[in-house]
Amino acid sequence: MREPVHNGEPTTRRVVVVIASPLEPALVARIQEVDDRIDVRYQPELLPPPCYPCDHRGSDTFRRSHDQEGRWVRMLAEAEVLFGVPGDSTQGLVDVVAANPTLRWIQATAAGAGETVRQAGLTQNALARVTITSASGVHAGPLAEFAMFGLLAFARELPRLLADTRARRWEHYPVGELAGRTLLVVGLGAIGREVARLGAAFGMRVLAVNRTGKAEVAGVAEVHPSSSLVDLMPQAQAVVVTLPLTEETRGVLDAVAIGRMPAGAILVNVGRGGVIDERALIQALRDGRLAGAALDVFATEPLPLDSPLWRLPNVLISPHTAALSLRENDRIADLFSENLRRYLRGDDLINRVDPTLFY
Ligand code: NDP
Repeated sequence: MREPVHNGEPTTRRVVVVIASPLEPALVARIQEVDDRIDVRYQPELLPPPCYPCDHRGSDTFRRSHDQEGRWVRMLAEAEVLFGVPGDSTQGLVDVVAANPTLRWIQATAAGAGETVRQAGLTQNALARVTITSASGVHAGPLAEFAMFGLLAFARELPRLLADTRARRWEHYPVGELAGRTLLVVGLGAIGREVARLGAAFGMRVLAVNRTGKAEVAGVAEVHPSSSLVDLMPQAQAVVVTLPLTEETRGVLDAVAIGRMPAGAILVNVGRGGVIDERALIQALRDGRLAGAALDVFATEPLPLDSPLWRLPNVLISPHTAALSLRENDRIADLFSENLRRYLRGDDLINRVDPTLFY
């Protein structure tokens, strides 16, 4: 979770909180119980039905009737606080900020909400008036598990095991292990810290890169600034990328950085596809220079059907689902409830999206 930022004075008035994203009624009730000063507005018939548990966008085919659209617009206009970006979209953010001058805070359901805020192109005045907090931290556990799953899959040769199983082949051969390898965690926020913790528990030597090069994190032997990334690559037998997509991080794992990874290295990306030069990655996987890659995120999503990544035997593809969990909404509701208490006290909010760095 990002460092909190001070938000203002304690609140004595009633605060209207609008639930603008599909959410289970029990969790809405839990949010209402946070404090008597809040007035939660929740009209599930105005929200698209979720396509799967914890879906925040809901069905694309959902349309509000004329009457429902009027009620939806009026409800949004009364909000001081929103749970979820309306429509889970950039346009939804732009529209609600423009239409509602009393809006003060939006709790997004995505950890990467900074990208939506950047794309919305809000004015500095709007960004000063409306605080946006992300769901950073909520997805750290599931994504760190996926990262370890990816590292283990290639260290312990899952593709060969699966092929041998299908062929009923009984052959003896030694496989690699994670213990003793050097793991480079790129991005040391909520996800990166959990990856580092698990990597250290597996006996890996953990190095990490963040923006500043400063952080004290248990299990991390060394923290470096982003400018050291390429120089660290020759040591990185395993790389787990957990970066947000910002102006600074786009394409940061370029052909030069990937070219410096040692032979047999494994790469996992759970941050954003746009931070890696996908063509250079494909080439390194094709050559067999990299042992494998486990990817949850891609430069273009859905991954185009003609992408070579689909056909490479040393690639595991997860369709941006590694963070999904049946407990996701529960965790977001907990984070929101804690932030609501802070908001009412006038305290700092957790996970405020930086209005200049956009993460
Ligand atoms: P945090 O905000 O907690 O951490 C981000 C980390 O990235 C920080 O350590 C930050 O450095 C570092 N960073 C930012 N810019 C740079 C840079 N230029 N060079 C090096 N490091 C940089 O985010 P989370 O860990 O919660 O999430 C990270 C990203 O993962 C999200 O923004 C989102 O895009 C993605 N994500 C993907 C999901 C999925 O479904 N696959 C789900 C959830 C998130 P510093 O510590 O110095 O600030």
